[in-house]
Amino acid sequence: MNITPIPAFSDNYIWMIVHEGRAAVVDPGDPTPVLKTLEEQGLVLDTIIITHHHFDHTGGVGALKTTTGCRVIGPNNPKIADIDETMTEGAQVTVLGYEFEVMEVPGHTLDHIAYYNAEDGTLFCGDTLFVGGCGRVFEGTFPMMQQSLAKLSELPSGTKVYCTHEYTMANLSFARKVEPTNTDLMAHIQTCERRRDSDLPTVPSTIGQELLINPFLRWHSPAIVAQLKQEGRHTGDSPADIFGAVRGWKDEG
Ligand SMILES: [Zn+2]
Repeated sequence: MNITPIPAFSDNYIWMIVHEGRAAVVDPGDPTPVLKTLEEQGLVLDTIIITHHHFDHTGGVGALKTTTGCRVIGPNNPKIADIDETMTEGAQVTVLGYEFEVMEVPGHTLDHIAYYNAEDGTLFCGDTLFVGGCGRVFEGTFPMMQQSLAKLSELPSGTKVYCTHEYTMANLSFARKVEPTNTDLMAHIQTCERRRDSDLPTVPSTIGQELLINPFLRWHSPAIVAQLKQEGRHTGDSPADIFGAVRGWKDEG
């Protein structure tokens, strides 16, 4: 699958899939850079894919639909205007000939969904899972968000994780506080530093990589449990407890 980022705002990526002269974009918060890219590359906008209702993911939908007549797919949430096809858990949707399975992943928002293409191993997960981090839990609960992340973490390890923000360096610096002995994490910090120094995205990551370094998926890690105890933040041993303690810690910073 041909996937490239269109940078938007200060740290958003609008992911664009291109196939035979047609394009699909994920979470276009701003129509301007999308229209510019379509024109520069001579592409027709076929589909807009939405993961959740936040404005920095949906702000461009109205203008893009009016200008191009594209179709819009997204969560079943009346707050999002212009959705043509609403997606729920387990739905199969074809975009530019590629089959995506819809996964409901509530927590960051209650309407949040992700799109998974098994053939190519591609996941568009919006603001649920980030490189080295996860979205803030605005509408759901910590246990709900932990369940959603667990669901994503069960995808094949080679699955490419296309999240919507370049938050990686801040996330990894927090991850180092949570698990200072993780050597995979230290190596990944160096890799990502080099990419940012060259102005390259750190996204996509993979599920396998995230399982090694992301403190929000590592509720099984004895080192994280020990660190939470040392910080006086340990409230229990269940995955939801560990996740909640780590998420609460990050929210303070
Ligand atoms: Zn969001």
